Amino acid sequence: MPIRSTLFRKYTLIFGGLTGGSLLLSGLLGISFAYQESQLSVIKLQREKAEAAATRLGEYLFGIEQRIAVAAMPKRGVSALEQRSADIQILRRTAAIHEILLLDNQGKEYLRTSRRTADIVGSKRDLSTTEFFRQVKSGRSYRSPIYFRDGSLYMTIAMAVGPEEAGITVAEVDLEFLLDGITRVKVGDSGHAYAVDSEGRLIAHPDIGLVLRNTSMAALPQVQAAIKGQAQGGEASAQARNHDGEPVLTAFGTIPQLGWFVFVEEPLAEAYRPLYAQAIRSGSLVLIGMLLTVFACVALVRRVVKPIHALQDGATLIGRGVLDHRITVRTGDELEDLANGFNRMAEQLQKSYAMLEGKVSERTLELEEANNKLAALSTTDALTGLANRRRFDEVLASEWSRAARIGQPLALGLLDVDWFKAYNDRYGHQAGDECLRQVASVLSSKICRTGDLVARYGGEEFVFIAPATDAEQALSMARKVCQALQDLELPHAMSGFGCVTASVGVASIVPEVKGAPDILVAAADMAMYRAKEQGRNQAVLGG
Ligand code: GH3
Ligand code: MG
Ligand code: MG
Repeated sequence: MPIRSTLFRKYTLIFGGLTGGSLLLSGLLGISFAYQESQLSVIKLQREKAEAAATRLGEYLFGIEQRIAVAAMPKRGVSALEQRSADIQILRRTAAIHEILLLDNQGKEYLRTSRRTADIVGSKRDLSTTEFFRQVKSGRSYRSPIYFRDGSLYMTIAMAVGPEEAGITVAEVDLEFLLDGITRVKVGDSGHAYAVDSEGRLIAHPDIGLVLRNTSMAALPQVQAAIKGQAQGGEASAQARNHDGEPVLTAFGTIPQLGWFVFVEEPLAEAYRPLYAQAIRSGSLVLIGMLLTVFACVALVRRVVKPIHALQDGATLIGRGVLDHRITVRTGDELEDLANGFNRMAEQLQKSYAMLEGKVSERTLELEEANNKLAALSTTDALTGLANRRRFDEVLASEWSRAARIGQPLALGLLDVDWFKAYNDRYGHQAGDECLRQVASVLSSKICRTGDLVARYGGEEFVFIAPATDAEQALSMARKVCQALQDLELPHAMSGFGCVTASVGVASIVPEVKGAPDILVAAADMAMYRAKEQGRNQAVLGG
């Protein structure tokens, strides 16, 4: 049924779509916001790790520089160089310092103390042309670029502290600590940290081989961004690709004293794994909620649509005329009212219908009676109550056919009242009518076999049909009629007999199928005229 499915489908789609859709939308928005927040917190955590590592390394290096500076401070009462060489011996104990040179203010080496070789005092080697001497002489501390030697990473720091005669201190710092600091940074299960210098050259990486091969990371967009200072303080933490081309979540921190950067990175799938798990959990909950909502909507719509279908079915049945059908809806609302309204309407219709049916059968009966009366009237003569001329014609035709079929004789008698005009003139028309009724009565009493018919032929002429009657029998019947009429002795002063009499002509023939009954009437008519001619009050056989 198209209407049913339309109603159910329409409301299910509207309610289910609206509630399920809004639930899905709010769920997806919630998941999206939660995802973004979690993503931001993951990124923030990573950035903090990068910044913490950078700060730690910066502070460590700064600490070494501080110690060099303190050691280089001149003391009172002692030759500046002598006193400082003593301090430098102390400084030597700092693990990260690999070699220390003490130069006088002319750039001549005064002291060289190294972890590999014995101290060399007063070698006077001229180092005045070196970059670090020139820079320190110009009043600035010196930090060399990082360099490799014997598989280790070094940096030279040079500075002058105090009066000019105190000379300058040059320290070669082993950057082993840098590597330690970097490898100690833990990022998730398989994430790691690495450090690059201000040109993007890798200076620390858990894979030392990369560092030893002097790998440059400058091609990576995140490193480029850090170097160009587009992103300050690790704000460019984001998704990127690492040196091996794998997608990673990365962040960096800056070591400001050196212009170096510490990067941390973690494979993207690993970094976002908790996010994905959370999203799947939330998505599942939204899906379950949505399914429950849709089920609830379907159940609700079914509840609403079911009574409507009951109403629809009921209305269809009542419309088809099943008026004793009653709609059952128990919703306690307008739908139940509507169903009751339908039921009341059906009840009223049932009553009206029953009443109408009663009236119709009553009217039909009346009509039938009227029709019967009309039929009788149309075949009955009003004055005498006998069959009329029309009825006579019908019966004559059918008896003629029947007699022809079975080969039986059919007799017909034609009666004419004698001197009836004179009777009317003498006694009046009303008496004439009464006389005709008497004649009819006599005829009916004498011609009364089953199958016989007596009719008024017209005026004061009567006719009778007698099936299976031969001429003799017919003549006998006619004579009995004449005698019976005379025996009534209805006075007729104008008749020679003194009473009402009649002349009857009879004929009887076995009809032929092809013939017409007119010949039987004509024969009787002629016989009747002969009876008149022979003196009236008699029956004459024609043929
Ligand atoms: P005959 O013996 O030759 O038959 O003489 P008659 O006077 O009967 O002649 P006719 O048959 O010509 O007359 C018929 C009369 O019957 C004429 C009419 O006044 C009368 N008549 C015909 N129909 C009726 C009727 O319904 N009522 C009355 N009262 N008279 C009728
Ligand atoms: Mg006549
Ligand atoms: Mg007559």
